[in-house]
Amino acid sequence: MTTERDLEARYCAHNYAPLPVTLVEGHGAWLTDEHGKRYLDMMSAYSAVSHGHAHPRLVRVLAEQASHLAMTSRAFRTGALGPFLEKLCQVSGMDMALPMNTGAEAVETAIKAARRWGYRVKGIAPGRAEIVVASGNFHGRTTTIVGFSSDADYRADFGPFTPGFREAPFGDAAAFEKALGPNTCAVLVEPIQGEAGVVVPPEGFLRALRRACDRHNVLLILDEIQSGLGRTGKMFAFEHEDVRPDGLIVGKALGGGLLPVSAFLARREVMELFEPGSHGSTFGGNPLAAAVALEALRVLEDEKLVERSAELGAYLIERLRAVAVPGVRSVRGRGLWVGVEIEPSFASARQVCELLMTKGVLSKETHETVVRFAPPFVVTRAEIDWAVERFAETLREIGVSHAARRDPVVMETRT
Ligand SMILES: *Cc1c(COP(=O)(O)O)cnc(C)c1O
Repeated sequence: MTTERDLEARYCAHNYAPLPVTLVEGHGAWLTDEHGKRYLDMMSAYSAVSHGHAHPRLVRVLAEQASHLAMTSRAFRTGALGPFLEKLCQVSGMDMALPMNTGAEAVETAIKAARRWGYRVKGIAPGRAEIVVASGNFHGRTTTIVGFSSDADYRADFGPFTPGFREAPFGDAAAFEKALGPNTCAVLVEPIQGEAGVVVPPEGFLRALRRACDRHNVLLILDEIQSGLGRTGKMFAFEHEDVRPDGLIVGKALGGGLLPVSAFLARREVMELFEPGSHGSTFGGNPLAAAVALEALRVLEDEKLVERSAELGAYLIERLRAVAVPGVRSVRGRGLWVGVEIEPSFASARQVCELLMTKGVLSKETHETVVRFAPPFVVTRAEIDWAVERFAETLREIGVSHAARRDPVVMETRT
C-alpha cells in the first residue's frame, strides 16, 4: 500500500528532512498524528503558530471573510487592508506598511526600500548602495537573500549572487560601525538570530547599532519575522533595548497560524519612495489575509499572549537550566524561544529530537547542535513541566546507552 509518506517522498522535492511523523490535526499547543498519537508542539512552525493551532477566533474570521471576499488583488481597494495596517503601525510604532505574503518577500521589499532611500535621500552614487548584514544571518531563501548568507549550504551552486552586501560579526557593534560608509544605505539584522540557533547578542547591541546608524546616516532595519509579535516576551524584540528602527520586517505569526502574511514597515520618509508600479504582489494585502492578520494582532492583546510569552518563557528557561541532565552545553533564549545547545560528542540535536518525538514532544534541530523549544503562547505551565521532564528523560537515556557502550563522551552536567 502506498502511504501519504511515500507519495510525499516521491513527488515532493527533498528540500527538507522532516521528522518521521505525519500530522493530521492541531489544536492549541497540541498536534495529532495519523495513528492518533498526540504531541506537544515545541516548534510552532518556526513561530508562525504563536497563537496556537486552529485558534477559534482566527478560524471564525477566516471562514467569515472567505465567504464574503477573499481575493481581489490591489487593483481595487478593499475594506480590510486599512484597519489591518493601521493596527500593525500602532503596535510597532511605524508610520506606514507594505503588505506581502512570505517573510522573504518582505525582506526583499526592505532591500528595495533601503536602496531607493540610499540613492534618493542619502545621495549615494547610482549602483553603489551597500547593505551591512550580520554573520550567521537568516533572512529567507531568494537568490538575493541567500547571496548574503554565511551558510555555505544555502548558497551552494545557486550563484551568481546580487552584489551590494557586506558582513559584520553578529553582536559586535563596533565592527558594524567600521563597515558603515558613505555608500551604506542600511544595516539589516535579526535582533536575536533564530536559525543560527537562538543566538542572543550582548546587552546594548541594538542600542549601539542605532547610534552607529545615526552617526553615519544609515537606516536600521530589523528583521523581526521570527522574533516579533511576542516571541521574545515583548511585542517586538527591539523594545528590550528601547530603540526605534527605521524599517521593520514582520511575518510568520502575523498570519495567525492560518495564512502567510508579511509586511515591511517603515518611517513615512522611506515608504513614500514607493510609487505605483515600483513594487507589488498579487496576493499581498488580500482581504482574507488582512482580516486574519488584524484579528491575530487583536488576539495577542486580548489574551495577553505577549505577557504570557515573557512569563512562561522565563519559567521554561529556568526549568531547563534546573534539570540535572548530561549532555547540555548551554540553555539560552528570551521569552518562549529557547535554544538548548547539546554537547556534540554526546548526541546530535537531531537524535535528541527524534527521541523526544517518540515521547510526544515535537521539536526540530537547528544546525547540528541546537534543540529549539518555542511552543505556542497558549501552552500552560503544566505542559512546560511535562515537556522538560520528557527532555530530561531523553538525555538520561542517551547517557545510559553511552555508559553501557563505555563511549568516551563528555558526561558532566553544565547549564
Ligand atoms: C522565517 C524567516 C524568514 C523567511 O520567512 P519565509 O516566510 O520563510 O520566507 C526571514 N527572516 C527570519 C528572521 C525568519 O525567521
